[in-house]
Amino acid sequence: MTSPPEPSQPDPSVTGVDLDLLHRTIAIAAEAAAHGNHPFGALLTDADGAVVLTAENSVTTDSDVTAHAETNLVRLASAAFSAAELSAYTLYTSCEPCAMCSGAIFWSGIGRVVFALDEIGLLAVVGPDSDAPTLLLPCREVFARGNRAVDVAGPALLDEARQPHLGFWAPHPASPPVPHPAPPVVEG
Ligand SMILES: [Zn+2]
Repeated sequence: MTSPPEPSQPDPSVTGVDLDLLHRTIAIAAEAAAHGNHPFGALLTDADGAVVLTAENSVTTDSDVTAHAETNLVRLASAAFSAAELSAYTLYTSCEPCAMCSGAIFWSGIGRVVFALDEIGLLAVVGPDSDAPTLLLPCREVFARGNRAVDVAGPALLDEARQPHLGFWAPHPASPPVPHPAPPVVEG
């Protein structure tokens, strides 16, 4: 086992406007848990910064393992807006998009992503004894493989973004998880 990574530092490129919108995604995440789903929330703003869509995780109530908040949001967004329009839109999310959601965001044309809790921070709060799957692949790494740029800002509001997860992910010590391989160092 490698030693746990250092706690993440907030990204100084996250603006005050971004923080206001991240607060809302964390509230949506709490609502998702209240609705019987996993505590993740996302929203989409247009080129003027107006909120045009919101989505919460619906994995449990929809019996759909792909129903993460961001992928749900991308489904709604791509039905409502063209990729050209979405290039000027920003997706805000309570937690860093997983590899699946990052792929969906890439295909959608959405131009910018801002997240609160990062993958490492989520893994820390989910805990090593949980059997909840985690996919430690930073979204910046996924987007870096694409042939169009997706701007990313985050993490931010780390303490607040942890709150909906505290006590949510029950430990299952009878089924020890397979340790993740050490993640590669990402520059920038
Ligand atoms: Zn996801």
